[in-house]
Amino acid sequence: MTKSAELFARAQKRIPGGVNSPVRAFRNVDGTPFFVACGEGAKIWDVDGKEYIDYLGSWGPAILGHAPKAVVEAVRGAAKRGLNFGIPNPLEVEIAELISDWIPSIEKLRMVNSGTEATMSCIRLARAFTRRDKIIKFDGCYHGHVDVLLVKAGSGALTHGQPSSAGVPQAFADLTISLPFNDAHLVGKSFAENKGQIAAVILEPIPANAGLYFPTHHFLQRLRDECTSNGALLIFDEVITGFRVARGGAQEIYGVRPDLTALGKIIGGGLPVGAFGGRAEIMDLLSPDGPVYQAGTLSGNPLALAAGLAQLRELERINGWKLLEELGAQFEKLAREAIEFAAANPSHGGQVKIDITFHRFGSMFCMFFASGPIIDLAGAQRSNLKMFSRFFHACLKRGVYFAPSQFETGFISTAHTPADIERTAAVMHEALAELL
Ligand SMILES: *Cc1c(COP(=O)(O)O)cnc(C)c1O
Repeated sequence: MTKSAELFARAQKRIPGGVNSPVRAFRNVDGTPFFVACGEGAKIWDVDGKEYIDYLGSWGPAILGHAPKAVVEAVRGAAKRGLNFGIPNPLEVEIAELISDWIPSIEKLRMVNSGTEATMSCIRLARAFTRRDKIIKFDGCYHGHVDVLLVKAGSGALTHGQPSSAGVPQAFADLTISLPFNDAHLVGKSFAENKGQIAAVILEPIPANAGLYFPTHHFLQRLRDECTSNGALLIFDEVITGFRVARGGAQEIYGVRPDLTALGKIIGGGLPVGAFGGRAEIMDLLSPDGPVYQAGTLSGNPLALAAGLAQLRELERINGWKLLEELGAQFEKLAREAIEFAAANPSHGGQVKIDITFHRFGSMFCMFFASGPIIDLAGAQRSNLKMFSRFFHACLKRGVYFAPSQFETGFISTAHTPADIERTAAVMHEALAELL
């Protein structure tokens, strides 16, 4: 028995499903998870000593790879000065200034401890500001495990066939309208049918929790216009895209200014951090200035903020976004070659044909085992999950770790080298050949 198998057997006795977050359980790929011992740069090692090139990247935060020196040193330094005080500390001012400098729509912000907390607080604020209750979201977008947002959510919720969670009162779910992504017409119709009742539209500007797909031309601007003309707030959940697709997130790339933004993942450098912010007049509704309560014992924790600040500054120092685009372009070129090779060489009997739609944005990528175009959840769900599962295991066996679900996004870090990516492409070639 491997050490991982032994640990998983013990874990299942005391932890539901053996994991502290469902998608880690490998259910969608018919497997059992390995346990990680350590990581450095683009590599991770499991407790049995096997090495992997990692494209999970801690589900997004590890944009500099694992245990980056700059971040680890910053955390060490902060730890020596005390772990948490619950008293204002200078790092809180530094990170607030840095974020509003990089993302100009964020005039004021609050630090929290997870992306879930960030989106939850955005919703509460939007409801207070507009004095309305209903929320529009999009099928397949995941915004953390907030009650009202767990309706047709992506990521683990999707992977485990629970598009809407048990335990969410129908009365809460009734306040959420979930629409197909990229369907601006339906958004307009929903605003008309719910006149004066929609508090906010929340979305991932680049959806990355049901695989990865993109907003079609002008979709984000249409949402901006609908929100403005209907007196609703536009909330961008940039927990994944923030600091990854550009210094200023997806809103910088698409030139659309949301009223509120939720951040997480990269901002904590691997420690538990989230943030939310936006227009000052909305943020000023927060307690103690205003009537919207929001708080946190560990919010603004000095270790977490030291890690986040170090990670963001290092990204800027090395011009990480340019490097990530170069690595992403190399990955795309080689991945497409492997995919085309597999498509051109169907199995001997000709019964097995591999149809893959490859999507990439900078350092994020997804291989859907389905024909394109894919612009929404329904498209992503056409994927051949059995085929994905076999591909996943064929890569894992050869030391390449992709997220254990078709409905996730792969992440390249600045620590991946061109040689890592070449090795990965060779593994993908072999893995695809094994499927035929
Ligand atoms: C991960 C994620 C969240 C939730 O963040 P947690 O830190 O896991 O609570 C919210 N929104 C998006 C887009 C995410 O990818």
